[in-house]
Amino acid sequence: MTGAVWQNWGRTEAVRPARVERPATAEAVQRAVVAAARAGIRIKAVGAGHSFTGIAVATGVQLDLSALSGVLAVDEARGRVTLGAGTRLYDLPRMLRPYGLALANMGDIDRQSISGAISTGTHGTGARFGGIAAQVVGAELVTGAGELLRVGDTANGTANGAEPGTEHGTENPELLPAVALGLGALGILVSVTLQCVPAFVLHAVERSEPLQEVLETLEARVATSDHFEFYWFPHTQTALTKTNTRLPGTAPRAPLTLGRRLVDDWLVSNQLFRLTCSLGRIVPPVIPYINRVAERLTGTREFADHSPRVFASRRTVRFREMEYALPAEAVPAVLREIDALIERRGWRVSFPVEVRFAAADDLWLSTASGRATGYIAVHRFFRERHEKYFEAVEEIMTAHAGRPHWGKLHTRGAEHLRELYPRFDDFVALRDRLDPARLFTNAYLDRVLGA
Ligand SMILES: Cc1cc2nc3c(=O)[nH]c(=O)nc-3n(C[C@H](O)[C@H](O)[C@H](O)COP(=O)(O)OP(=O)(O)OC[C@H]3O[C@@H](n4cnc5c(N)ncnc54)[C@H](O)[C@@H]3O)c2cc1C
Repeated sequence: MTGAVWQNWGRTEAVRPARVERPATAEAVQRAVVAAARAGIRIKAVGAGHSFTGIAVATGVQLDLSALSGVLAVDEARGRVTLGAGTRLYDLPRMLRPYGLALANMGDIDRQSISGAISTGTHGTGARFGGIAAQVVGAELVTGAGELLRVGDTANGTANGAEPGTEHGTENPELLPAVALGLGALGILVSVTLQCVPAFVLHAVERSEPLQEVLETLEARVATSDHFEFYWFPHTQTALTKTNTRLPGTAPRAPLTLGRRLVDDWLVSNQLFRLTCSLGRIVPPVIPYINRVAERLTGTREFADHSPRVFASRRTVRFREMEYALPAEAVPAVLREIDALIERRGWRVSFPVEVRFAAADDLWLSTASGRATGYIAVHRFFRERHEKYFEAVEEIMTAHAGRPHWGKLHTRGAEHLRELYPRFDDFVALRDRLDPARLFTNAYLDRVLGA
């Protein structure tokens, strides 16, 4: 089928692929890769299109793997689940419920595909927890030669409809730290095996607090909470803190009522926010006043619910985002620099700055590779120009050894990134081995990994 125009969620990228294919098995993916290689055209899988960068842009064959989704195998004894590569995160609670399992940690939305999420290093918050890719224990991918490569612990053959659990095994474990977070550069993932945890309840406390106080006590809060994050609205001195505590799956729940959810998440966080962003675009001087009101409206609440319902919420106001991973201890200084920058330049910024944390991991291209990490994300309404703000913030991040999120806007290239990742050259060497003809590349990958 000829491709219609594909756009990403943030409306920063658009492309008309030469062809769209929807394979439903690993073998069909292999055939598609071999055919593309013979025809000399590029091929790339796309997830939910939620990356702000051009990482998912497919000019040749675009693979839509939504037919290759769902639970392929479950290892109940070890809490491991093998999923079709196109599985969407919002389907996971329903799929994992029969086994009493859940993802250990999640980001703030659940629209992504599992492959897209792990390939760009999607993360949530929590100093003792890694991102979603850190929960990957195995994967199957189709290489540039059209071969099916099994990495780590996989339920062999299930992506082709084999009976689950027949041929469990571990292969090529040394490649897992690259393949689990592969930027879509190493091959087409057909299945992903995740280490899950027993389903749990999260107790959430959300408060409006003085920013200064939060920054002064940050280290202790991050260390003593399971999942701590905060939002700071520029032009205010207030932080909206979110502290989530893990409770057993049997703990009593006190979910938000439908009415409260509707008012907070739909009306205030989305509809009213959309209106104020639009107003702020037309009359920028009102933004500081709007931010003070917004910060008051999104104040205190406390509830407890199944973890996916607490981790993820809806985002219907379209925006652009840049996020950098920093050594965790640099967060207060960087935030103060961003505050000073905004005031010095006289910018009016309606979107909050988001601050999260993650444990160090050992994935070669993870933004948290080898260091306890603090994430700072800046956003701009999609109808506003983001470039000058993001460029200036990026300079601050770079001065603090920041690593850009692979799926969020940034301007860095391979020469710069090589300095930030000790295993960068190992990753490039693996790419040379698995995709020597660069079937899976695009302009973004050429920039960040080299052509
Ligand atoms: C509203 C919003 C909220 C967000 N919240 C967070 C957050 O809380 N935390 C965070 O870290 N990020 C967040 N992000 C970023 C987002 O999680 C990542 O960009 C993620 O990659 C998007 O997943 P996707 O399925 O849309 O993948 P896409 O953007 O479609 O693709 C991403 C990459 O994955 C590759 N890929 C997809 N499928 C395969 C496959 N089968 N085999 C090989 N490669 C594949 C693509 O080729 C591409 O390289 C957010 C983005 C938005 C728009």
